[in-house]
Amino acid sequence: MNNNSLKPCPFCGGNGVRKLIKPYRKIKGRGQSYLAIIGCETIGCTVEVSQAGFTREDAWNYAESRWNNRATKGTVRGNDIEKAIEILKRKTTIPNKDESWTDIDKAYDAAISALEAQQTNSWVPVTERLPEAEKEVEVTIERRMENKTYRFTCRAFYEDGTIRNDDSGFNWNDYDDMEYDEEHDDYRVSEGWFEAVTYAEEFAVIGDFVVAWRPISEPWKEEKSC
Ligand SMILES: [Zn+2]
Repeated sequence: MNNNSLKPCPFCGGNGVRKLIKPYRKIKGRGQSYLAIIGCETIGCTVEVSQAGFTREDAWNYAESRWNNRATKGTVRGNDIEKAIEILKRKTTIPNKDESWTDIDKAYDAAISALEAQQTNSWVPVTERLPEAEKEVEVTIERRMENKTYRFTCRAFYEDGTIRNDDSGFNWNDYDDMEYDEEHDDYRVSEGWFEAVTYAEEFAVIGDFVVAWRPISEPWKEEKSC
């Protein structure tokens, strides 16, 4: 293992190091996967990337290429938006001669609501947080071919492994990968990601890596004119 191939931290210039590798999700039909984390060595700097792979080496390689290619400038993170909203809410700017306090209020409100909209639409990495079980979300999926990797999106839902057949909002009758729960004499839906379909009769197991999710967008509505 060497850290020489890692570029310095984009934020503080500190050394990039391989921090951790651990067993990650079992993906249906593909087996055990691993999660590798590479981060900045500087104490107090929390910059890191994580990436999953089907072997340890695979995970390290993907994490390394993500670390070396990560966006440096102009990346607005969820925490930054939250902080910006907090600051904007104080509305501390004073009006120019040709402006009123109402103009200032409106400007702040516009900025805040634009940021809030962006916040609800932002992607959440699965390593950070998972969605509520069985709630339909949009996901970014990463597919690995020989030497290529590409990403696409689809609608999906997550099962956290605790929901029993009787309580599930989905029909699992034709699905055989269930875990028997003796205590409740019922089957539990095993943990994993499933594609959510609107018109098809059956949903499918997602056999690639789900890397991030976000709430599905609201349907379009005509704007009302007053
Ligand atoms: Zn750093």
